[in-house]
Formats: sequence, structure tokens, C-alpha cells
Amino acid sequence: GLQESCRGDHREVTILDRPPPEWKRPPIPCRIRLQVLLNQQGRSTVDNERLGRIEDTHFDHRPALSARKFDIPVVFASSSEVYGSAVGNMPISEDHLLQPQSPYAASKAAGDRMCFAWQDTYGLRVNIVRGFNTYGPGQNSGPYGGVISRFVRQTLVGEPMTVYGDGRQRRDFMWVGDSVAAYLLSLESDWDGPINFGTGRTVSVLELADLIIGILGRGRITFCDRRPGEVQNLPADIRKAASLGWEPKVPFEKGLRDYTNL
Ligand code: UDP
Repeated sequence: GLQESCRGDHREVTILDRPPPEWKRPPIPCRIRLQVLLNQQGRSTVDNERLGRIEDTHFDHRPALSARKFDIPVVFASSSEVYGSAVGNMPISEDHLLQPQSPYAASKAAGDRMCFAWQDTYGLRVNIVRGFNTYGPGQNSGPYGGVISRFVRQTLVGEPMTVYGDGRQRRDFMWVGDSVAAYLLSLESDWDGPINFGTGRTVSVLELADLIIGILGRGRITFCDRRPGEVQNLPADIRKAASLGWEPKVPFEKGLRDYTNL
């Protein structure tokens, strides 16, 4: 969605989940207005299965150095998972401790910190987007998909929704369109540093299952093992994002209904 939005806007965005082969040599991004997004979330829970391999993180400094040279905005797609379970004051503001609880989250936190290091070492300014749980059309509903896409698919095909642990863990779910708006804002503003994007409101996994049953008029749950490294509570403090004029536009029940009825 983000790449399409930017293309429609005649901008080019490079998403560096895997450095493209041409980055073997320093790129020459001077002919086009190039904007760089680092480490966009391509896969998430998959990395939890690969303990010991921090595969999602690329500390290739060349994009960062080129970006500085050509004055290209750099955005790092961080994640709410860098915080781990909320401790102390809630909701979680940007200065909350970084206590990642899974290898995937640790790789995000490492990238997040690398942006600070680039700033200190090279003076590179990076907009760090700390997105909370995003859902909507196009989300993978397979084994490593998001909980909403998985639960909806499971219910539609007559399978039970697989609740991990006791289902009381809570997440702050954001509609994908609001997330795209956050990234577009990040390409335009020069805020420098991390900003949370979420809704400020959380829903437990059990409440989510109930809502889906209510919308679809059917469905059941089955309890499965607790996920290793599970984060219990992730509520976003979005005051910083709000101060830049961003706000989530789609209320959760509406987004869930729209997604479920697609
Ligand atoms: N979850 C679940 N059943 C599933 C998939 C996920 O109970 O089939 C839970 C998961 O344990 C977590 C929440 O739903 O507490 C959100 O998981 P997701 O993978 O969507 O995002 P995460 O918060 O892990 O990035």
C-alpha cells in the first residue's frame, strides 16, 4: 500500500528488507528523488522460530551514508515490539525502555539503536516509525500472519481461532491506511528520532475473538501453547504523533468489520 501511494505521488521509495544486488556498489541516487525506508516489516513472527539468527537486520551503512550525501530522507520501520511488555507508566511513550523479548524484536531494537548511532557518528537524521500492530487487506493469514487475518481466515474456513496462551495479552491495533498515512508523514517531515503510531487503545486476544464471532455470526476458539517471548501489553502513547497532526482515522470495530466483510 505504501509503495503504491508513493508511486501515485510520483515518488520513489526503496524498501530495504534485503539489500538489492545493485547495492553491492555504492548507489548513485542523484537522478531521482529517492527516499529510503529501512527494514520495513516484511516478516515478523517468522524470526521467533529461528532463535539465534537475527536475519531481519541489515546494518549496511551505505544506504545511510548515501542518503546523507544526497540529502535523502531516511525512515526506519521500527516496531512497538522494541519496548517489550509495558512497565511503569502506561501507555508506552517513546522514551520507554527498550526491552525486546523475541529475536525479531531484538533485531528491530538493534536497527532502531543503529539509527541513533548513525545520527551521533555521521549526523544522519532518521525518522524512526514505531508502529503498533497493523492490520488490514493484504495481511498474510498463514502460519506467520497477524492475529486478525489468521482468526478471520480460520473462522471463514470453519477452523477454530488459535488463541495462544490465555488470550489475555493486549494489543493496540491500527488500520493499515492509518499506518500508510504515518509513513507518508514520515517521508515529509523532518522530525528526527522515534515516534509511536497506534491508537492508544488496546484489545485482548479473547476480546478480538469475541468481536469476530459477533461480526461473522459464527466461530469458536481453541487454546494453544503460549508463544515464547510473548509481550503482555502494548498500548501506544501517541501524543508525539498527534503533535505532528497525525491521528488514527479508523475506529477498531469499523476496521475489523470492513476487513472481515472484504
Ligand atoms: N496470536 C494468537 N493466535 C494466533 C496469532 C497470534 O493468539 O494465531 C496472538 C499473539 O500471541 C499476540 C497477538 O495475537 O499476543 C498479536 O500477534 P501478532 O502475531 O498479530 O502480532 P505481534 O504482536 O506478535 O507482533
